[in-house]
Amino acid sequence: MAQRDERQRELEREQTGKPQAERRAGQQTARELLAFLEGSPTAFHAAAQMAERLERHGFRRLSERERWQLRPGEGYYVVRNDSALIAFQLPQGPWTGFRVVASHSDSPMFKIKENPEMEAEGCIKLNVERYGGMLCAPWMDRPLSVAGRVALRRDGGWETRLICLDRDLLLIPSLAIHMNRQANEGISFNVQKDLLPLLGSTAAKGAFQKLVAEAAGAEPEEILGHDLFLYNRQKGCIWGAEEEFVSCGRLDDLQCAFASLQGFLAGEKKRWAAVHCVLDNEEVGSGSRQGAASTFLQDVLRRISDSLGGDYQDYLCRVADSFLISADNAHAAHPNYGEKADPVNRPRINGGIVIKFSANQKYCTDGCTAGAVKEWCREAGVPFQVFTNRSDMAGGSTLGNISLSQVAAATADIGLPQLAMHSPYETAGVRDTEYLIRMLQVYFS
Ligand code: ZN
Repeated sequence: MAQRDERQRELEREQTGKPQAERRAGQQTARELLAFLEGSPTAFHAAAQMAERLERHGFRRLSERERWQLRPGEGYYVVRNDSALIAFQLPQGPWTGFRVVASHSDSPMFKIKENPEMEAEGCIKLNVERYGGMLCAPWMDRPLSVAGRVALRRDGGWETRLICLDRDLLLIPSLAIHMNRQANEGISFNVQKDLLPLLGSTAAKGAFQKLVAEAAGAEPEEILGHDLFLYNRQKGCIWGAEEEFVSCGRLDDLQCAFASLQGFLAGEKKRWAAVHCVLDNEEVGSGSRQGAASTFLQDVLRRISDSLGGDYQDYLCRVADSFLISADNAHAAHPNYGEKADPVNRPRINGGIVIKFSANQKYCTDGCTAGAVKEWCREAGVPFQVFTNRSDMAGGSTLGNISLSQVAAATADIGLPQLAMHSPYETAGVRDTEYLIRMLQVYFS
């Protein structure tokens, strides 16, 4: 153990010894990450962006409605509900199992309800509800807009279209301190009362439907339904005395999803069926058709196994010889709240990949799977660190243990360190995305 710690310290010294090149590579990757985040105001847009990149790299889209004829050496991807995506590449030669990275495409947001316009005090506001467990206060007093998916009437059925109203459109104003003197002594939010965004004056009545239709390139009466969310308009940025921080909305978990895709594309993918998997609805328990509790991942792995010749036994042998990395962002120890972190295991921003442990199996990492991750980190020359909750705090959970109920492969839960998780403007490190890409490139090789 002492020897291992020494090796880790050595690695950290190496990292601090080559700050310039590291920082440049990290900043370049952080800028690419920001471009990806800004193009992904919702899970739908994240999946669409990934599909586009996969197409550019020669991956072929498959439909779940058709039989799959897969060929060794080829790459494919499949999308479910426009919001979850699984890409895979088959090795040319013999293979025995899958190498999977699973992350999630969704983030806590406010979802716009049906018939959302409400009138109050000469204004039109929108009726919204909570999607996931967000920090509410940072959503207030800043420009917001609307993005998501609409269903349009087409030839007796429907067609979906992604929209993003790319303008400062909405805002949730705070109540002035004069009317709530306790505002700085702890405040609770009632979404139905406190967090409805303003759209305009009463002259804007009916504008919402029109704006949505216009963004979809359709007539208002053609809109059959919508899955629309508020998003924060503030652009992402790289900041700090040495430009060591990166802030933007949706770092949890698109930072890992982005790194997973980059590592997947860069890896050699020779010995294993490599799988990049981004599931939806993690923030609300993963229980949907496109979430980690669904059969999506299992369906895809079984179809891969079947179409390359093999029965159910062969599939089970392959799963038994597989590895799943569940990649979901982790809490860095907060400089203003050091007491909230475990006394010993205190992840730091830019300190590298976080391996998460939980005795009650909220995180599935065990001694063996952690050891495998550490070896991949060493091979990639990137630092790693450990997260455990304080023993007197419950903490969060993620998708690793949920996907295990469908695909029982050896699993490790990892993530990248961040602050302000579930704020609409989260903070992470410029170097960490690059570290994860490099580790996953090794994993996929
Ligand atoms: Zn997450």
